[in-house]
Amino acid sequence: MPSGSSVELPKVKVSRQGANRLRAGHVWVYRSDVISPDGVAPGSLVSVNDERGRFLGSAWYSSASQIAIRMLSRELVDNLDELLRRRVKEAITYRELVVRDSDAYRIVFSEADFLPGLIVDRYNDLLSLQILTQAMDSEAVRATVLSELKSLNPVSIVERIDPKIRELEQLPARPSGVLEGEKTSTVFTMNGVKFHFDALQGQKTGAFLDQRENYAAAAHYAHGEALDVFCYQGGFALHLAPRCARVTGVDSSRPALEVADRNAVLNGQDIEWIEANAFDLLHDYAAAGRQYDVIVLDPPAFAKSKKNLVTALRGYKELNIRALKMLRPGGILVSCSCSYHVNPADFLALVTEAGQDVHRNIRLLEYRFQAKDHPILLDVPETAYLKCAICLVS
Ligand code: SAH
Repeated sequence: MPSGSSVELPKVKVSRQGANRLRAGHVWVYRSDVISPDGVAPGSLVSVNDERGRFLGSAWYSSASQIAIRMLSRELVDNLDELLRRRVKEAITYRELVVRDSDAYRIVFSEADFLPGLIVDRYNDLLSLQILTQAMDSEAVRATVLSELKSLNPVSIVERIDPKIRELEQLPARPSGVLEGEKTSTVFTMNGVKFHFDALQGQKTGAFLDQRENYAAAAHYAHGEALDVFCYQGGFALHLAPRCARVTGVDSSRPALEVADRNAVLNGQDIEWIEANAFDLLHDYAAAGRQYDVIVLDPPAFAKSKKNLVTALRGYKELNIRALKMLRPGGILVSCSCSYHVNPADFLALVTEAGQDVHRNIRLLEYRFQAKDHPILLDVPETAYLKCAICLVS
């Protein structure tokens, strides 16, 4: 189907539970709530209806994902091309409103920008794009998205492939690579701090842009000796360094630390990087009586699903206990969790319990979420995933 054509859409019927979810404002229907997807081609634009045939909206259908339906609009979409162009434009305009002091930020965040299956990050003059669904992967949709993104005048547009996601969506394998232009590395600046960026290396689309505002907030309270645990390419450490006497970053990834070190040089900073398992290192340092004025904990998502939530909560608590033991009175704990499954109340509760276990009083200075270029839709709880508690510990 050429995008932009006006045709009757294939109909998909959803169960009462699926319909209720959509009526409550959510944008997903799980496969178990889809009644009649017979003959609907993978990645089709479909009309979604309840059991009695009442129209609920237009959506993209995936034949492979557990999320069978991703809503695009509550209206009938008769011009997909126009809708996608408008959504990309709106996403760009929204960033003009919320991003300050940075030439690196997320431009499109999938459902949170009503563009399910598309992630686009800007790193100065480069754009890094990820496609996560059958519908977004169609040639027509790719062409529309690319042509809208060119309005930002990037020097290059690079596509990052997560082979696992393509496999889950039953999409043919495809290598990461350049879609437009040739340049694949650059230097970007956020909050006055410079970072190297290589579009074809690193985790996620390259950097953890979702912490951008939290870096600045943490830097505000920084003093004395700081320890950045799970530092990756040095996001927190580089922000803390101008206000601290000494900064140490810890990560288990050598390639990440190599970039961190180049970033420190780029900013004229002297930071110590240690390649280690953070759990072991915190255990040893705590046992050796080491003390810090600032400790940042930004571990990877321990709870990848609800199933390992209990173990994950225990892991987070253990880390927080070890960090609290090493903070001098008046010290700052910056404790993060990027697991969606750990909700904000539970995360705060575990920091509270960690404080009680080691008899430290904790004053919550700021309870923060992801940066605003990673929008949170209240109707779609899955869009809120990052927590960052900044605490004064006495
Ligand atoms: N704070 C970083 C992002 C951290 S992402 C920033 O702002 O950019 C999580 C990091 O934890 C990754 O860099 C990963 O390499 C590291 N990591 C994962 N398991 C680890 C472990 N057991 N010990 C130390 N680092 C670990």
